[in-house]
Amino acid sequence: MPPAPLDPATHRPHLEEALRLAREAQAAGSAPVGAVLVNARGEVIARGRNRVGEAQSPEHVGAASVAHAEMDVFFSVGKVRDAETLTLYTSLEPCLMCGGASALLGVGRVVWATADPWGGSGRLIRWSDHPAMQETDVVPCPDPDLEAEGARLFAPEARRAFPEEGWALWRQRYPAETAGVE
Ligand SMILES: [Zn+2]
Repeated sequence: MPPAPLDPATHRPHLEEALRLAREAQAAGSAPVGAVLVNARGEVIARGRNRVGEAQSPEHVGAASVAHAEMDVFFSVGKVRDAETLTLYTSLEPCLMCGGASALLGVGRVVWATADPWGGSGRLIRWSDHPAMQETDVVPCPDPDLEAEGARLFAPEARRAFPEEGWALWRQRYPAETAGVE
């Protein structure tokens, strides 16, 4: 069975949950990014969030610069089965590592609330000249309200963590949402 249909109404509650997890990450001292993995029946089978600023625990990745929300999801779910039927929802376009992991595992679809014009891997997830990584569909920013919400949430981190040219791309893509960020 392929992933659930592309109706934005289907995506919205899962993107809202990814954004809720992103705020939880921020409150815990990590970067504001969240993710959920959803099966073909629309059930959430794993939740994750960025834990870069927190300690490693038996339950969660942490204490490492690679403790991204999507990696938290993949470690949480363990062995990924029927990957082609799964949809990964993230608050922010996955980075090269997390987009690469999604494609490597053969996750059927990746949907994100907000684009990351500097660090996002959406332009590469299909790995168009890589024969083993052809199966992952991508759905960028299906909900304009949630896209703006995610941009406002991550903008301060983009300002802090990205080099000047990265921040310039953010300001270009999200002028309203980045306007007040010092
Ligand atoms: Zn990542």
